[in-house]
Amino acid sequence: EAFAAIGERDERIQAYLTLDEAGARAAAARLDNKLVSGEEKGLLFGLPVGIKDNMVTEGLRTTCASQFLSNYNPIYDATSVLKLKQADSVTIGKLNMDEFAMGGSNENSSFQPTRNPWDLSRVPGGSSGGSAAAVAAGEAYFTLGSDTGGSIRQPASYCGVVGLKPTYGRVSRYGLVAFASSLDQIGPVTKNVEDAAYVLQAIAGYDSKDSTSANVEVADYISALTGDIKGLRIAVPKEYLEGIDPKVKETVLEALRVLESLGAVWEEVSLPHTEYAVAAYYLLASSEASSNLSRFDGVRYGVRADHAGNLLDLYHESRSQGFGPEVKRRIMLGTYALSSGYYDAYYLKAQKVRTLIKRDFDQTFEKYDVIIGPTAPTTAFPLGSQVDDPLTMYLNDILTIPVSLAGVPALSVPCGFADGLPVGLQIIGKAFDESTILRTAHAYE
Ligand code: GLN
Repeated sequence: EAFAAIGERDERIQAYLTLDEAGARAAAARLDNKLVSGEEKGLLFGLPVGIKDNMVTEGLRTTCASQFLSNYNPIYDATSVLKLKQADSVTIGKLNMDEFAMGGSNENSSFQPTRNPWDLSRVPGGSSGGSAAAVAAGEAYFTLGSDTGGSIRQPASYCGVVGLKPTYGRVSRYGLVAFASSLDQIGPVTKNVEDAAYVLQAIAGYDSKDSTSANVEVADYISALTGDIKGLRIAVPKEYLEGIDPKVKETVLEALRVLESLGAVWEEVSLPHTEYAVAAYYLLASSEASSNLSRFDGVRYGVRADHAGNLLDLYHESRSQGFGPEVKRRIMLGTYALSSGYYDAYYLKAQKVRTLIKRDFDQTFEKYDVIIGPTAPTTAFPLGSQVDDPLTMYLNDILTIPVSLAGVPALSVPCGFADGLPVGLQIIGKAFDESTILRTAHAYE
């Protein structure tokens, strides 16, 4: 069914970069045998899953939507991919994204722009745009995305699906091609909240192969979905309602009224350092990226420039040809921010701002169970409308980035429409308290 849907729609949506029909059929046949032999079924038995193309898959091309890796076939599976296999889901292909997860519209893919299934002239969001569009178009039962500054939540919001960024350290990053290692997290993109709980259950947990993996017990997310949110204390940051599309704001306020009718109480609060989050994020994420992407040297992975005269030329030409403009911009920005003489003024200062932002969240969570606001300031924008304006593009993440800097978990759940386009409600929780987020979103949904 998934392949039939892809055959019918993906020429227009362009969510997939690589399909693996032979591998999927082989995996499905193994599951058939399991059924016959009466073996115990895994949690996600038989569900077709698409994987964002920055998670390595054994023997299946993994490009990060970059020309640099257009011929890269990994020799192992990312821990999340392996865990999904162990839960008996079936990998059907790899999904489009912004190159190396840098972007918010999928237009930075070096292969193709994915389109929003609700309106093909609009972007699906990014960087996990392929992951969100595939679920919205019925081209996978669920998908995995990755989120560094909003890349699961913002596309989920634009495509009208559920996207969950777990607490930093909750899901292993082993085999996720690193963009900004102190922020990257893998999470589920699903049709509904219950599915998100199932997928998180399958992929969460400590992994000795990831040095920042958290050795914290995994909760029972599925039984957390009680439908009961009576007495839940919700904080609504006033900064998250300022300067956003008025129709998005109205939709979010209506969602808060629904939560109230279910017995929750909400109050307006202030997260005073919100306005500095985007600037701090782009310094920190670019700094980390400039270091992480140094491994792409034309020698170890992917494409190598022909006819280089010496080693330095080989690096230079491979990187000049292999990386797209946004990736180069970030490497340059990050290298500059880390260079001696500028380190204190930029990188160190941004780290201090990050601490202040985290404190805003810590203080709020002393009194409240969740923080709620919109996921993004607008609905999906037209393709091509922001590509020449990186700073406007960066501001799309103003409501998701603070959460990433604080390392806490957050979920985007559809809460209605503005001018016919989906709006996402962002529910933010305490570190390692995905259960409360899922319970709240499930009761609301
Ligand atoms: N849009 C943001 C960026 O370009 C976030 C990307 C992400 O979360 N991977 O960095």
